[in-house]
Amino acid sequence: MYPAPISEYFAPTSLDECLDLLKEYGSQAKIIAGGQSMLPLLKIRMVETPVVIDINRVLELQEFGEKYRDPEKRILRIGALTRHKTLASHPLVVSKYPIISDAAKYIGDVQIRNRGTIGGSLVHADPAADLPVPILVLDGILRVSSKAGEETYSAEDFFLGLMMTVVEEDQLLTHIDIPAPKKGTGTAYSKHSVVFGDFAVISVGAKVTLKEDKCLSPRIYVGGVNPRPQRAVNTEVFLEGKIITPEVLKQAADVLAEEIEVESDMRATAEYRKILLKEYGFNVLTKAIQRAKEDLI
Ligand SMILES: Cc1cc2nc3c(=O)[nH]c(=O)nc-3n(C[C@H](O)[C@H](O)[C@H](O)COP(=O)(O)OP(=O)(O)OC[C@H]3O[C@@H](n4cnc5c(N)ncnc54)[C@H](O)[C@@H]3O)c2cc1C
Repeated sequence: MYPAPISEYFAPTSLDECLDLLKEYGSQAKIIAGGQSMLPLLKIRMVETPVVIDINRVLELQEFGEKYRDPEKRILRIGALTRHKTLASHPLVVSKYPIISDAAKYIGDVQIRNRGTIGGSLVHADPAADLPVPILVLDGILRVSSKAGEETYSAEDFFLGLMMTVVEEDQLLTHIDIPAPKKGTGTAYSKHSVVFGDFAVISVGAKVTLKEDKCLSPRIYVGGVNPRPQRAVNTEVFLEGKIITPEVLKQAADVLAEEIEVESDMRATAEYRKILLKEYGFNVLTKAIQRAKEDLI
C-alpha cells in the first residue's frame, strides 16, 4: 500500500527551525528520522499524517563523541540521528561502551542499520527493540527539546510503557548522554530471536564493576518480555559484593529467570523464555565480568 496523501513535507536544517515547525504543526505532524519504523506504519496506513517533518538534515542531532560535562565527568554524547551502523562499529563504542555495539550490530539487517537511528528507536519504544536495554543499563540521560526549553530524563523515567515515552508531540529527542563507566567496569548485551536480526524474544543487558574480585553496583535489564525493559533488582542484590565464580553466575542466572515475569506469545512459550533467561543471563554476565577484568589490566 501507499501512504495516505501527505500535504506538507518539511526538511529543516537546524534545531531551531525544527522546533518552530513542531510548535506550529505539533499534533498534525509526524517526525521522520531513519523511517524504518515510521514508513511501514505510513504504508499500511496505521499512521496517517498530513505533515511530515524530516529531521535528517538537522546538524545538531548528528553530534557524536566523548566530552567532559565537568572536569570529573566524562560522557559519550550521542546525537539522536546517530545510525545503528555507527553504534555497531565505531571504535569508541566498541572499546568503551561495548554493550551498545553488542545491541546495535544485531538490529535488522545492513540496510536497516544504515538508516535507523538511536533517536527513532528510543522514541518508538518497541518492547522488543535492542537499544533501550543498553541505555537503561548505562544510566543514560535523554535530552528532550521544544520551544519551551530543554528537559532531561533518566532512561528509567523516559520509557513509560508499550511504545510510550515522555516525548510530547511538540518535542524532539536531541541527544543521549552516557556517563563513562568507572575503571574495572564491564558491560554486555545479547538477545535471542527467532531468526537472525529479528526483534528479541528475550534480551539481557548487564553492567558490573569489579574491585578485588568482588562485584559492585551490578545493573541488569531484560527486554522483549514486558511492555518496557524490566530491571532485575533481585539479581542485582544477589550479586552485590559477591566474589565472582562460575557457580555464583549460574545462581545469579537462576535468580534472574525466577524474578522476571514472562508470558507466552507467538514467538515463544513462557517456559521457553525462562530457559532462555537462564542461558542468556549466564552468558551475558560472564561476558561482562570478562570485560571488567580486561578493563583492570
Ligand atoms: C524489517 C525490520 C526489522 C527490524 N529489526 C529490528 C531489531 O531487530 N531490533 C530493533 O531494535 N529494531 C528493529 N527494527 C526497527 C529499526 O531499528 C528502526 O530503525 C527503529 O525502530 C526506528 O528508528 P528510525 O530512525 O528508523 O525511526 P523512524 O521510523 O523515522 O521513527 C520512529 C518513531 O520515532 C519518532 N522519532 C524519530 N526520531 C525522533 C526524535 N529525534 N525525537 C522525537 N521523535 C522521533 C518518529 O516520529 C516515529 O514515531 C526493525 C525494522 C524493520 C523494518
